[in-house]
Formats: sequence, structure tokens, C-alpha cells
Amino acid sequence: MKTDVEIAQEATLRPIGEIAEGLGLTTEDYEPYGHTKAKISLDVLDRLRDRPDGKLILCTAINPTAAGEGKTTTNVGLSMALNRIGHRAMTTLREPSLGPSFGMKGGAAGGGYAQVVPMDDINLHFTGDFHAITSAHNLLAALLDNSLHQGNPLGINPKRITWPRVMDMNDRALRNIVIGLGKVGDGVVRESGFEITVASEIMAALCLATSLDDLKERFGRMIVGYTYDKRPVTAADLQAPGAMALLMKDAIRPNLVQTLENTPAIIHGGPFANIAHGNNSILATQTALKLADYVVTEAGFGADLGAEKFFDIVCPAGGIAPDAVVVVATVRALKLNGGKDKKELAGEDLEALGTGLVNLEQHLENVAKFGVPAVVALNRFPDDTDAELDLVRRRCAELGVEVALSEVFAHGGAGGEELARTVVELCDRESTFTPLYSAEDDLLTKIETIATEIYRADGVDLAPAARTQLADLEANGHGSLPVCMAKTQYSFSDDPTLLGAPRGFRITVRELVVNAGAGFVVALTGDILRMPGLPKVPAAVGMDIAGDGTISGLS
Ligand code: ADP
Ligand code: MG
Repeated sequence: MKTDVEIAQEATLRPIGEIAEGLGLTTEDYEPYGHTKAKISLDVLDRLRDRPDGKLILCTAINPTAAGEGKTTTNVGLSMALNRIGHRAMTTLREPSLGPSFGMKGGAAGGGYAQVVPMDDINLHFTGDFHAITSAHNLLAALLDNSLHQGNPLGINPKRITWPRVMDMNDRALRNIVIGLGKVGDGVVRESGFEITVASEIMAALCLATSLDDLKERFGRMIVGYTYDKRPVTAADLQAPGAMALLMKDAIRPNLVQTLENTPAIIHGGPFANIAHGNNSILATQTALKLADYVVTEAGFGADLGAEKFFDIVCPAGGIAPDAVVVVATVRALKLNGGKDKKELAGEDLEALGTGLVNLEQHLENVAKFGVPAVVALNRFPDDTDAELDLVRRRCAELGVEVALSEVFAHGGAGGEELARTVVELCDRESTFTPLYSAEDDLLTKIETIATEIYRADGVDLAPAARTQLADLEANGHGSLPVCMAKTQYSFSDDPTLLGAPRGFRITVRELVVNAGAGFVVALTGDILRMPGLPKVPAAVGMDIAGDGTISGLS
């Protein structure tokens, strides 16, 4: 089979104006960025306020292997399949982070015959949104260090600064640095560090904002550190929000592109799925819901993280509700969850598969707790045997859950028609969506609810630091915020080696951090890397561009 980039290069892209006009947008509604990308004006949402929303489908997954199980691929393929069977569908996705494209993970624009294009642009600089976020973030950092240098009028304790610098590159050497070295005019010496741009609170805030004013207000609330008497210092104290918002004036507008089969796609924002909520911007989803009858959106990581955050953080913030959920499962990840060694996932193993199905089962039970109908998308990989695929189908039938084989990677939209028809049928049923907890619950109750209901932990233990932080957060009025769990994506528990559907464990919260601007409290259950590194053989070494512009090695 051809590589992703080869398939993408053979695609016939339609001019972006045609895609926009197909959605009913006028030339005032969008601004082309070259021939195949455009920014959609935020005025569209105002103009179409009274138009009923389309149906919203969340694409999520079981606990994955390290390679990923195909949520993005399925998301893209499903939207193409919905179009093929005669519906007006759109896909909305996160923007890939440039840094990890050169590391282990590769790009994130789908795969095979289910990709969004131009995939090279989307995986690299795209329309510059991440550069804008990087600039807005680092502007705030520069204003902060300047304030320290200019006599520190706010009384900021340099040892309690929480706002790092960011860049969109996997670069472990920048995790811990000393800044301000040099002469008297060179700033205040202190330790600091870099995080990757997608870990910036600005990214999370962009994706939860509902307007430029809302984004600016979120900037104002962002906490950059604490004074000597431990009072929070915000971006508003540094008079930064106006200039930060100015840097974001284009980045806030959703990006319109297309799939390999010319289905309209909006790709906008890309927060981490651990320390943030892992979903594209609310503005992108809201816009798509006004322009299409079916909108498919992806939540990062497995359903224990991505779907839970989508339901409990994103939906309430955006006033949106899902009509159906697609749970992507693969035979290989089910075998991994059934105890099979990660290096031996290729051969048929019905026993490991049968054992691993408990993982899928628990995710399905969890989705049902939110009152949304679900279908399993069985993402077919070349090594899967018929007996294995049958076993998954049979177990789903026993559970009374819909299942559809998805072959969108190999066949594009044509390989997803069964899935598309099932999704349409689910969307016609009544969804009785309700989040798991209410805003009035205190923070500990929220964490315990997620841990016991979704992860099936016996309870939650707070490390001493987290206990103090919890009291401070409640006292400072942050108790009504939703909780964003930062946890391993490999297990329902906080231990990445406990696969399947573990029982008899407790969740340990080590630290609680408020993202007052984004609007959630992050509960850290382990060490979460906010600046990734590169592997021994980075993907970058296999990439090239020929003199005629032909790209290779990007996936
Ligand atoms: P996720 O969004 O869940 O991380 P992706 O859709 O990005 O997953 O897919 C992860 C990787 O697996 C990508 O490299 C993708 O091209 C590949 N992939 C997905 N589905 C298939 C499939 N059915 N057959 C072969 N490779 C696939
Ligand atoms: Mg993905």
C-alpha cells in the first residue's frame, strides 16, 4: 500500500472557495489562505444563530497501544461515508502539533484513504495558529520577566513563577533552564523552562472560548505566579490580555480544509488530552454544527480521558450535546488489553482478544452513563483475522451494542458505509445526555465521581501537597470549575501497566493546579511530561523534500 503522503499527493483537492460555497458560505464569510485552506469568520456563528444545529457525533476509543487505534482516521472516514450515503457531513479535528511529527508519533491528519488534506501543511505550520499561541504565551512570559526587572512592582516571588515559555518542538534540553544570566541589564536570574506549545494554557483557553471577548477575559484570569505573600498574580495584573488577544486575532478563527474525498473539515486548536481537555475548539464545533447535518469530532486518548472531558468540560462550556458516540476498537489493542505482549500483537490470539474485550465493555458502560447511544467502530488492520473480527462482533451483539466494521483506512468513505448508516440511526434515537457531575459539587467529589464511576477505582488518595492545594482552591473560589484529570492513557487506573478492566485499585492525586483562564482544575495523578523529547531514531531523519517539492517520510 502507498504511504500516507503518497496517497495525499495523488488526491484531487477542490479550491477552498468551492468547499466553502458548498457549505452555503459567502465570500465575506471566509478568507482563503492559499488555494486549499481558509479561515472562517466568527460572524458566521452570529448570522446563523437561529439555524438548528446538526447532529454531533463524538469519536473516542478504547485504551490504545502506543501507536494509536485510529480515532482520527475513523473520524475522517466516517464523515466521508456519511457524505457518500447522501448526508451533509463535516469532520472537526484538532490541529496536529508540529513538534511530535518529527518524533515518534508522526502526524495526526488521519491515515491511508481517510485523511484530511493538504496533510503536509496541516501537520506543519498550517495557518500559523500554533505560532500565534506560542507568541501570545511568550509575550506574557516576557512581560512577567520585565516586571521583575523593572523593580518588581507587583511583588512577584521569582521562586513561585508558574508561567514557563513554550515552543512547538520536542526538545528535552529546554525542559529546565536558567534565564537572566549576564550583566545588570540582562534581567533577573531565575530557573525556568520550556513546555511544548500544545501544553500552554492559551491553547486550552482558545479551545474553550466562545468569542474573542471571552478569550480575552480568560487571558485576564490566567495565573502566572504568586507574590511574596502568596497572592496569585494574573495576566490582567501585568496588563497583558489586550496584546495577547491581538496576537490571537486570526488564530481564533476556525480553519476550513477538506478530506481526500472533498468532505469539508474544520481543524482548529489542539490541546493535550492529559493536562488539558484534548478536543478541537468549541468555535470549530459550533460553526460546523450550523453548516452541516452531521458533525464528527474527536476526543484525544481513550474514552476514560477524552470522552469524559468532552462530556464534562467541553459540552457544558460550549452549550453543546452529543447525539451519538463512536468507540473505536482494534483487535490489536484488545489483545494488548488481554495481556498479550506488545511485540506479539500480529498473530491470531482469540484467548487474549476474548480477555481484552472487558476493556471495550467498560468503556461502553461508561458512555451509557452519560445517556448517549454508542456504536463500536471496529477499525480493521491488515493482520486481523476473520475469526478475531467475528469474536468482537459476537461479544458486542451479546452486550446489545451496535458494531460496524470500519475499513476507511484501506477504502476511504466506501469502507465506512455500515458505520455511517448505524450512526444515522443512533442520531435518530433520543439522546438523554447529562454530564457525570454538576458544577456545584466540590472538587473532591468531582474527582471521586470520575475515579469511581469511570475508572472503577475504590477511592481517591490525596498526596499532602494536593490536600493543601485543594483547600486553597476551594477557598479562592475555584471549587465550581470542572476537573481535568491528567492520567496515563494506557489504563483506566493511574498505573499504565494495569490493562483490561482493573479492579481493587485507588487513584492517587499528587497535585492540583488551577487553569483559571482555561477554566478547569487539573488533577495530576502522575508525572506528566509537558515537554516531550525525541526518540533514538526520530521520524525527522526519514523525512525529505526533493527539488521539485515532492515530500517523503511524513505520515
Ligand atoms: P488516533 O487518532 O486514535 O491516535 P490515528 O487515526 O492517528 O489514531 O491512527 C494511528 C496510526 O494508525 C496512524 O499512523 C494511522 O495511519 C494508522 N492507522 C489507523 N487505522 C489504520 C488501519 N485500519 N490500518 C492500518 N493503519 C491504520
Ligand atoms: Mg487522533
